[in-house]
Amino acid sequence: MLAPEGLGPATIVVEGERIAEVRNSMDVPSGAALHDFGDLVLAPGLIDTHVHINEPGRTEWEGFATATRAAAAGGVTTLVDMPLNCIPETTEVKALGAKRAAANGQAWVDWAAWGGVVRGNADALQPLAKAGVAGFKCFLIHSGIDGFAWVDERDLYLAMEQLRGSGLPLLAHAEVAGPVDAATAKLKGNGADWRKYSTYLASRPDEAETEAIALLIRLGEKFNVPVHIVHLSSARALPLIADARDRGLPITVETCTHYLWFAAEEIADGATEFKCAPPIRGAANREALWNALGEGLIDMVTTDHSPCPPEMKRRDPNHELPRWDQAWGGIAGLGLALPVLWTAMRRRGVCMDRLGDWLGAAPARLAGLAGRKGALAAGCDADLVVFDPDATWTVEASDLHFRHKLSPYLGAELQGRVLETWLRGERIFRHGDQCEFVGSPRGKEQVRA
Ligand SMILES: [Zn+2]
Repeated sequence: MLAPEGLGPATIVVEGERIAEVRNSMDVPSGAALHDFGDLVLAPGLIDTHVHINEPGRTEWEGFATATRAAAAGGVTTLVDMPLNCIPETTEVKALGAKRAAANGQAWVDWAAWGGVVRGNADALQPLAKAGVAGFKCFLIHSGIDGFAWVDERDLYLAMEQLRGSGLPLLAHAEVAGPVDAATAKLKGNGADWRKYSTYLASRPDEAETEAIALLIRLGEKFNVPVHIVHLSSARALPLIADARDRGLPITVETCTHYLWFAAEEIADGATEFKCAPPIRGAANREALWNALGEGLIDMVTTDHSPCPPEMKRRDPNHELPRWDQAWGGIAGLGLALPVLWTAMRRRGVCMDRLGDWLGAAPARLAGLAGRKGALAAGCDADLVVFDPDATWTVEASDLHFRHKLSPYLGAELQGRVLETWLRGERIFRHGDQCEFVGSPRGKEQVRA
């Protein structure tokens, strides 16, 4: 069992939807129905706090039914949905209502919603907080979606005044436009080849991240609002974050599975399924991210699952290589975090017990779900993953349960496989000879405590 105290044998006593008790040995209450998982690893249901479900409005990109099936198959029992790419964007209470209506009866796992901070919606933030969003997300650079306007320092002032004292975190896409615009203009002036990954990488320099993070730290300190950096890619920002932590700022950081698994050196020209922002950087940067995770400077890992129809990646086999500047930015990887990270951890000699923090406890705290989700402990929901750490497999399209099967993880050789997923005391997924979703969608929205 993967418990807050580490790995060891255990009996988990479930009553109804909750964990009643955790016993440290084979000690089954009389009369209980026993499910014996032998030497397999039993972990808390995982929490992915960075997912673009895209429904309502762009269900042809992704939707509740498909996203939550992908989650269940990957041992993820709680998703937190990003406020953009859906229509309407979750930037006012009415839109949250539309989101709830869209989820109704479709979710295989539990979910929660982030609200959005956009230019001009400061007055909508407190009503959204009261209506139950887990926190707020903003962009400091164009989001890729015109309906989700990015914010500057003045907008952030207005938003932070509203959030001050609420305890809700402000999540930020931490890239600013200046360095990206300057680098892009220079590349265009030099006639750079936009089919090459190196051109795209050069267009999103590290400075865009470090400047954004410095700004967020400054404002977080001024207003004493918890700041969360989503999808940190550049290891060069780590010293800034360490300093801010030392000064007591409540700053948390996530990185994503793709930054920990892939490296720029391995990305082929035209392979736009790897396009995301900030970009996947070099192998040395990747190792620095692993070190920061090890030290606890990076708190958690998400997938930032942000898929699109394949046409938008411009991957047409009959045409020439697609241009990186014309493809949608977003990687499809929901449900793969556990085996991908475990494979990478084995190579680096990292102990499995760290996964409980990165994929369970830390995201639960961020989303206000600690004590209910993300741990195998008495009183928590009985959300469980049965994981075989030694199974080896190669990712094929048939293993992917999200809507579109275009993913940079196709062909990845992984160690470790999710065999079963349980949501609030009931099995919802089983991987035997084939994948089987059990029962019907009974996921519920989880509102911040
Ligand atoms: Zn995202």
